[in-house]
Amino acid sequence: MPSAAHNEVVSLAMMLMERPSVTPDDAGCQELVAEHLAGAGCRIRHLPFGHVSNLFAWHGQGAPVLCLAGHTDVVPPGPLNRWRTDPFTPTFRDGRLYGRGAADMKGAVAAMVVAMKRFVHAYPQHRGTLTLLLTSDEEGPATEGTAMALRALRDEGWVMDFALVGEPSSEDRLGDVIKVGRRGSLSAACTIFGKQGHVAYPKKADNPIHLALPALQALAGHDFADGNALFAPTSLQLTNIHAGVGADNVIPPELVVRLNCRYPPPTTAQQLQQLIAALLEQHHLSHALQWTEGAHPFLSVQGRLLQALSGAASAVTGIEPHLSTAGGTSDGRFFHAHSVEVAELGPRNESSHQIDEWVIPEELGLLAAIYQDTCCRLLTA
Ligand SMILES: [Zn+2]
Repeated sequence: MPSAAHNEVVSLAMMLMERPSVTPDDAGCQELVAEHLAGAGCRIRHLPFGHVSNLFAWHGQGAPVLCLAGHTDVVPPGPLNRWRTDPFTPTFRDGRLYGRGAADMKGAVAAMVVAMKRFVHAYPQHRGTLTLLLTSDEEGPATEGTAMALRALRDEGWVMDFALVGEPSSEDRLGDVIKVGRRGSLSAACTIFGKQGHVAYPKKADNPIHLALPALQALAGHDFADGNALFAPTSLQLTNIHAGVGADNVIPPELVVRLNCRYPPPTTAQQLQQLIAALLEQHHLSHALQWTEGAHPFLSVQGRLLQALSGAASAVTGIEPHLSTAGGTSDGRFFHAHSVEVAELGPRNESSHQIDEWVIPEELGLLAAIYQDTCCRLLTA
């Protein structure tokens, strides 16, 4: 990798990291990207919705349409005094580049932008269309971001074939994991009703904590047995338990437990709702359940994009990536809803959302090379 190319990616990443784009504030990141790409001959559209900034850039025409996709927003830094250096002052230390968004995902955005510039410079007459879609609403509710931008673009006649998402997918080494799907997410708040009373007269009350314990044990230990080669089985995590009226001598009237399930296809949110309700019924609990459906699970077709991306990753890193669907949700699901082949490859994910988030600067140059080679494999020849 020529060092000039690596420096170009790192310096763009640092310029993005200096902008405190805590979701959904883009803080000027997309304008910076737009300047770079317009200067390289790309066409630019801003697609703002509400407080959310979205940027669409493209070069070329016709099919196939490859979309490089990502986000410019970051999660809040958390307590500033726990960062060794300011989260919005990108800093080199011990061979790493520290700052909020380094791994998730301004490093990958910089790599995509540089890859796009270098590709259109090398192949001004490439076939098909190379596009980039960035949003400032991936870490937030994600309603006015990629999902809305894709609907607007579809209404204008855009048909995407491939979406390469730069979320931090790698585990031990850059390029060791490509994500081809994601689990679904379902949350619930469950209220278990008892009868309030004096702790000294338990027979005259009905303690909802005692009533709930066996059911909570059963929920926490339930084997959903719905995993397969690419997906882990459903994981149910209790995330909060609350009861009590603030006095040690009172049996509380009710207990509220919150939970979240991460589940694979073809399991559905409805199936999980029925199963969990039935489990509570088995324990004869008087209860009320309130559900919040997060992302639906998806598994992408594994076609030419995956072939191109795996080939590019192996060529650049010398290792064969393996396929995974682990981790949280991503905007890949919105592309999947438009029947677009989705694959995700980005930097190592171990510091995402953490205090002292970091990325290895040399890996950003390699990442740009992987993205550029993927463009070559799909849009030339
Ligand atoms: Zn992200």
